[in-house]
Amino acid sequence: MAHTLDVDGQTLTVSKIVCMARNYAEHAKELGHALPKEPVYFLKPPSCLMPGGGEIRMPTDAGRVDVETELAVVVGGTGRDLTPVEAAELVAGYAVFFDITGRDLQRAAAKEGNPWTAAKGYDTFGPISPVVPARTVPDPADLDLRLRVNGTVRQDSNTKHMIFKIPETLAAVSRVMALEPGDVLATGTPEGVWPIHPGDVLDAEIPGVGGLRCTVAARKP
Ligand code: MG
Repeated sequence: MAHTLDVDGQTLTVSKIVCMARNYAEHAKELGHALPKEPVYFLKPPSCLMPGGGEIRMPTDAGRVDVETELAVVVGGTGRDLTPVEAAELVAGYAVFFDITGRDLQRAAAKEGNPWTAAKGYDTFGPISPVVPARTVPDPADLDLRLRVNGTVRQDSNTKHMIFKIPETLAAVSRVMALEPGDVLATGTPEGVWPIHPGDVLDAEIPGVGGLRCTVAARKP
C-alpha cells in the first residue's frame, strides 16, 4: 500500500524516502565516522513510512535498534539537475521524522560491504508527523530538535548544526534521481541516538514544525 501525506491541502503519494547520513558533526563523531565532503544519502522504502506515528514494531532478534530524530522535508514538485535555489522552491512542507535503524544490522552490513537496506527498511521504521506547509517555517536551518525517551531528553540540538543544508542536498540528489511530489528527505540526525526497547515511549518535538510520538513493541513474524 502506498502511503500518502497531506501537505497544504494536497494529498501526495510518497514515492521515495531519501535519508542523509552523517549530516551532523557530533553524530558522525559518536559513531566514529569522518565528516563527509559531500552529501551522503541512502534510501528507505516508502513502505516503512508510518504517518502520524504509532507503534514501532522492532525485531527482537536483530540486536541494537536506535531511534534517530530528524527534520523531514516533503517535496511538492518535480525537478532534476536543480540549483540549490530551484531546489528550495520545490519544498512543500516539513515534518518530524524518526529514522529507526537496526544499528547492529547496519554495522554488520557495512563491515561486509553490503547494503544497509534491512537495517533501515523494516515496516514501521519511518514514523512521520503531520506535515506543516513550508511557508509557515521561516528558517528551516534554525529549528530546535528534541527527543525524549520515556520522559528523559536524549537528543537536543538545532538544525543549524547540519553540515549540508537542505537546498544544497536536494540539488545534489536531483543530479542523480528526479525529485517528485511526495518525496521525503530526512535531513540526518544530531548526536544522542538512543537504543529502543519494547515498551518505550518516544516523543520528539521540533517547535514550529510539530511533534511525533511513538511506542515500541516487539515485531511478531
Ligand atoms: Mg538517520
